[in-house]
Amino acid sequence: MKMSVIGFPRIGRNRELKFASEKFFRGEISETELQDVAREIRELNLTTQKHAGIDLIASNDFSFYDNVLDTAFLFNIVPQRYKDLGLSQLQTYFAAARGYQGEKGNVKALAMKKWFNTNYHYIVPEFEDDTKIELIGSKPLSEYLEAKDLDVETKVQLIGPFTFLKLTKFVGSKKAEDVAEALVEEYGKLFSKLSNAGASFVQVDEPYLVRDLSSEDISFFTKIYTQLLSKRSGLKVLLQTYFGDIRDAYEAVTALDFDAIGLDFVEGIKTLSLLKSKGFPKEKILVAGLINGKNIWKNSYAKTNSVLDEIKTVVDEERVYLGTSCSLLHVPYTLASETKLPEDYKKHFAFAEEKLVELQELSDLTDEKLAANQVLFEKRVDSVDEKVRARVAGIKDADYTRLPVFEEREAIQKKVLGLPNFPTTTIGSFPQTADVRKNRSDFRKGEISKDEYVKFNQKKIEECIRLQEELGLDVLVHGEFERNDMVEYFGEHLSGYVFTEKAWVLSYGTRCVKPPIIWGDVSRKEAITVEWSKFAKSCTDKPVKGMLTGPVTILNWSFPREDITIKESVLQIALAIRDEVLDLEANGINIIQIDEAALREKLPLRKSDWYSEYLDFAIPAFRLVHSGVKAETQIHTHMCYSEFTDIIPAIDSMDADVITFEASRSDLQILDALKENHFKTEVGPGVYDIHSPRVPSVEELVGQLTKIREKTEDSKLWVNPDCGLKTRGVEETVKSLRNLVEAAKIIRAKN
Ligand code: GLN
Ligand code: ZN
Repeated sequence: MKMSVIGFPRIGRNRELKFASEKFFRGEISETELQDVAREIRELNLTTQKHAGIDLIASNDFSFYDNVLDTAFLFNIVPQRYKDLGLSQLQTYFAAARGYQGEKGNVKALAMKKWFNTNYHYIVPEFEDDTKIELIGSKPLSEYLEAKDLDVETKVQLIGPFTFLKLTKFVGSKKAEDVAEALVEEYGKLFSKLSNAGASFVQVDEPYLVRDLSSEDISFFTKIYTQLLSKRSGLKVLLQTYFGDIRDAYEAVTALDFDAIGLDFVEGIKTLSLLKSKGFPKEKILVAGLINGKNIWKNSYAKTNSVLDEIKTVVDEERVYLGTSCSLLHVPYTLASETKLPEDYKKHFAFAEEKLVELQELSDLTDEKLAANQVLFEKRVDSVDEKVRARVAGIKDADYTRLPVFEEREAIQKKVLGLPNFPTTTIGSFPQTADVRKNRSDFRKGEISKDEYVKFNQKKIEECIRLQEELGLDVLVHGEFERNDMVEYFGEHLSGYVFTEKAWVLSYGTRCVKPPIIWGDVSRKEAITVEWSKFAKSCTDKPVKGMLTGPVTILNWSFPREDITIKESVLQIALAIRDEVLDLEANGINIIQIDEAALREKLPLRKSDWYSEYLDFAIPAFRLVHSGVKAETQIHTHMCYSEFTDIIPAIDSMDADVITFEASRSDLQILDALKENHFKTEVGPGVYDIHSPRVPSVEELVGQLTKIREKTEDSKLWVNPDCGLKTRGVEETVKSLRNLVEAAKIIRAKN
């Protein structure tokens, strides 16, 4: 069987691109030096894939920042404000990606958004009315030729015009439909250049096809491709989809004159049934995405083989290519860099390089290979904990419901907590100054004793409490000085987790994250946060809020298991955090915040799947965490992006007592939606943006609160920043919080 890879991680085997780019941004290396590093990365990627025997290797999957932005620059879709800076081509590109502040001017970056259901973020192109679409770039061509020079014949990867137009923001009066024809014309010119240079295959990525599409969308898609395919200049065109199935567009796609169609059999829950029920055109190649491009587990050859068998009942064997489910950009580069992980664990993982081996083995599967692979799917070392299994099995319906009901609890809490109107609080973390980070890393390296480590943090907590008292905040926090990251910290204190050294995955630009791996059944070894919260409480008479990360966020920011369902996994985590909640309560902490910063992250791309595939277990899992507390105990939650207008009923049914969220950047539209939905939960819409060092004035905060009050009942309103303060400096934090408390006092006095 032939093999196809959609794309390879461009950050480099050891994140070379990140380090070189950052040096370039700091002016420490020249553009030529940066280009050299980039070329070496591409060369290694190409030769690695070639040695693995991959038939369809992508070129142009590289990017200095983002492929969507590359596409915009390729076709001259660049807002005038960046061109006006008069910078070099690459510098203009970085100005659009990251913003520019210097002698040539001061412009903000283009917006950044989540790339479908991944943790990668793309740059949102802006189309101005006088933008003149024109093929001005040569990146696809030069990267194709560069590969050819290395004796690697590639398929040229491009973001397709449909997805590109769907993701572009039209800032003037023009719409996607008005410019599609002109854009496709330029894609046609690119095809012709590629063809003249000797290319034979292009891979046009259209992930937008896996979303909910209207009939207008589908006609738009068909129109675009009817035009483009007539300008193919002899090129073979692979229409590549990923991140799900293309149930709305399947007929339209198969009716068009593509040479090959790439479908996702991993996340595409309906792909196989579409294929079987609707058939597949005789003359076309099917690139079957069967190797998971998002997770790090070894492929089950037996399972893959059985899917392949079913595929072959529809498509002739010689026209089936084995492929990845999406670009390998979303997995770490190589397992070879993991020196500390025992082999018993490692043998179960496949990062990008190892996935090439899987493709190879699967394409020519021997009984020996199959048998060796099958062993991996028997019981894994340390992965099953019968006690945890029994506990999950024993969860009763009633465990998902907290009693008494919200309204009763609200009245009780108002009485026992005795907070003023418009209570002030923060989201949890305080500035992580150099000494705080040093304390943690010294302890980790064994350079200081546990006692020294704890003493230092206690001193920090005490200072933090004194500061909050002095500022006059109403609900205090301990400051989270013991935490590096809100998920990693909990992962490290739960059984069932495995950590890597170098398993970095690109998040945006050159920034990477290193998600921990859920290896086995998850349980709490011992109390995690109780001592810190107890200590904080002992420093003050004011209420101190305990601070936890919720199960959905812990799950979403980890590599999940594949041997049990996501639902089962999240319930295990929920039970572990539930134990922590009850421990905090038993130790006198009567306000507990359970952060669900990443709740929206894995919401399925199609609305019709939202509940059945996700919210129906995610929301109950959250409820399970707090359903055991007394009516007097107040449960808070926090979410980072207020992009939850469309799931407000689900958020309300998390049944927290208070929710704080980011609202300062979103024009408070969310508040209208809350009102329309009769949102019952008390709310703390962030009154200032913590993502910038700017100090909001008292007047500005009073103004913001006044606007909020028009849309929210006073009795439900909290006053807080929009997220944790850990990335901020001390001085700006103190000033901002002082103004926040002052603003709340002014509002109270007006009442
Ligand atoms: N409690 C966390 C903090 O304050 C929340 C972080 C987040 O929402 N991303 O840092
Ligand atoms: Zn947040």
